[in-house]
Amino acid sequence: GTPLLEVKDLQKVFTVGSMMNKKNVQAIRNISFTIYEGETLGLVGESGCGKSTTGRAAIRLIEPTSGTVKFMGQDITKVKEQQLRKIRRDMQMIFQDPYASLNPRMTIEKILMEPYKLQNLYSSQEREERVISLMQEVGLRPEYRRRYPHEFSGGQRQRIGIARALALNPKLIIADEPVSALDVSVQAQVLNLMMDLQDKYKLSYLFISHDLSVVKYICHRIGVMYLGEIVEMGGRDDLYNNPLHPYTQSLLSSIPTVDQDVRLERIILSGDVPSPAAPPSGCSFHPRCPSCMEICKTVKPETIQVGQQVVACHLYP
Ligand code: SF4
Ligand code: MG
Repeated sequence: GTPLLEVKDLQKVFTVGSMMNKKNVQAIRNISFTIYEGETLGLVGESGCGKSTTGRAAIRLIEPTSGTVKFMGQDITKVKEQQLRKIRRDMQMIFQDPYASLNPRMTIEKILMEPYKLQNLYSSQEREERVISLMQEVGLRPEYRRRYPHEFSGGQRQRIGIARALALNPKLIIADEPVSALDVSVQAQVLNLMMDLQDKYKLSYLFISHDLSVVKYICHRIGVMYLGEIVEMGGRDDLYNNPLHPYTQSLLSSIPTVDQDVRLERIILSGDVPSPAAPPSGCSFHPRCPSCMEICKTVKPETIQVGQQVVACHLYP
């Protein structure tokens, strides 16, 4: 495939705390991945592992501290704000809580017209026509376009969020926990809609989720994040059938399996996720890892290729 987004060595350091007690927290480090046209790349991990920061830094909604991001071959970490605004048309975002991201005082029609207004596109009549077709596209009845967000269900509101993301015909959509707030029965509908739209428009998704069954359903390739790093990445089937990293193994062992040949024994991790402000030495997973060796406590594992997967763990090669 053609690479659409190429992220290399992305880092983000936040400064937190009071004036007297400032502290640097490295939210993400050494993040590298490529998203190809028409592909869904998943980022999965527990809350606080840096998934959302990665998604936002990858499209410069927050400024990365270092690293490069190429979008359609162009390094967007170097471009000026004005040019970035143009490029942003092609990169949109869907949020976990569509209600929070939809202005409650605006009708759906106004909400969906806003991207056109901001970009100075189309006449008002064309905008109206587009709103109608956008609503149809996401399975909403256009006659409801004068209604307000609170008049819709959670699933419908996420459809509105998707319609707004689609308004400018983007190439890439960053979807941050897009179905996590929805009832399980509604989740599949929204995921199916996203997949249909992907087929139709050759969209690419960066799909961020803590839910491994959701990620398995929609993603072609998956990166597993732990404490600000990608510890394993691979194709969906490789990763789910043959997880290499002990952290991936523990995550997968905790989801109920119905159709899996390989039944994983449930691995219970000891301890909590350490604070990103004070990451453990060596392999940052070592205090919780059931396979921890002496070397793991002091030496950080390199990311290496094993078969079709990449993994950062001293158990390999
Ligand atoms: Fe476990 Fe060591 Fe691998 Fe880290 S490097 S995941 S501690 S075996
Ligand atoms: Mg998050």
